[in-house]
This record gives sequence, C-alpha cells and structure tokens, in this order.
Amino acid sequence: APVIGVLALQGDVREHLAALTAAGATPRQIRRPEELAEVAALVIPGGESTTMSKLAIVFGLLEPLRERVRAGMPVYGTCAGMIMLADKILDGRDDQETIGGIDMIVRRNAFGRQNESFEAEVDIQGIEDGPVEGVFIRAPWVESVGGGAEVLATFDGHTVAVRQGNVLATSFHPELTGDHRVHKLFVDSVRAAG
Ligand code: GLN
Repeated sequence: APVIGVLALQGDVREHLAALTAAGATPRQIRRPEELAEVAALVIPGGESTTMSKLAIVFGLLEPLRERVRAGMPVYGTCAGMIMLADKILDGRDDQETIGGIDMIVRRNAFGRQNESFEAEVDIQGIEDGPVEGVFIRAPWVESVGGGAEVLATFDGHTVAVRQGNVLATSFHPELTGDHRVHKLFVDSVRAAG
C-alpha cells in the first residue's frame, strides 16, 4: 500500500488517517521535514489555514512542502488544505503564506456569509456511481483557475474541486462522510504516479 502522509499541524487529521486507511493506503502523520521526506504523497486536512500556515513556518515545513510539490509529489487538500494549495488567495490574512501548486485564486470563507455550513450533493469528474455528499464548513471557493488547472466540480456556479497534475483540492470534506471515493481517486493517482 502506498505510504501517504497527513500534514498534522492542525485540523481534522484523524478523519483523513481513517479515510486513507479505508481507501487502501498506509497513512502517517507528518510534523517534521524528516517525516515529509519519507512519504510518497500527502494530504492537507481541513481546519484553519491561517494557523496551518503559521505552524508550517514554525515547524520549518513551508519550504520543504513547496519543494516537494514543485517536484511533483501527489497532494490532496480539503478546505483549509485547498487554500494551502492555491497559488493565490483572496480574503487571507495579510501575512498568510500558501504552499501553492495549483494555478488558481481561492477565496477564503467564500460561502460563509450566506451559509456558514451546509451539505450538498456534488458531481465530481472522475468519480462514478453518483454524486458525493459535499460537507462545506466555512468553505472556500475557487474564484478562477489558470491554464494548467482542471475544474472537476462546481456547486451553485462556483468551482469546488480542482486538479493540476498530481495536485487535487476540494472545498468540501469527504473525510467526514464515510464515503471514501475521493480518497480512493487520490490513492489511485498516487499509485499511478508511483
Ligand atoms: N475557513 C477556514 C480557513 O480559512 C477553512 C475551513 C475548513 O477547513 N473547514 O482556513
């Protein structure tokens, strides 16, 4: 089974560890650069992207993460994880850094004002057997994507799932639903990249 890290600085780490195991991977928590160096791929959980960004700097992980993503490591980010994978963000904190990797502009807390948290069915390109239940919690949306990025899902006219090469991001949290199809899609892409 592919060994896949979960960035364990902050956020819903435990849920991703369980979802990855269910999807056939061997998960490992990642807090140090030495641990990052040992995994083939990485999940960045949901949580609070401003805190995650700060902790990534404090733990000396920001540059190593950027290097691995540039070098083609498969990564999947949910919600705050999507924000971390955006080349550019809107409504971030002034000093908020991202890892980048997807040529997209992501707006933080975009669904927030109308509706802090909600669930909705989302059809995702590459996922068969019907839509997934999208859990949106103070979720971002993708304001725009550049040429290299591929839109995999929209909800209410807004892009909520994107892929660029080996980097995948969703506004919502499949790790909270017990439906492991998105994690399986990611694990399959890790095997294919392997
Ligand atoms: N609003 C959070 C942020 O900006 C993301 C919320 C989430 O991950 N559920 O980081």
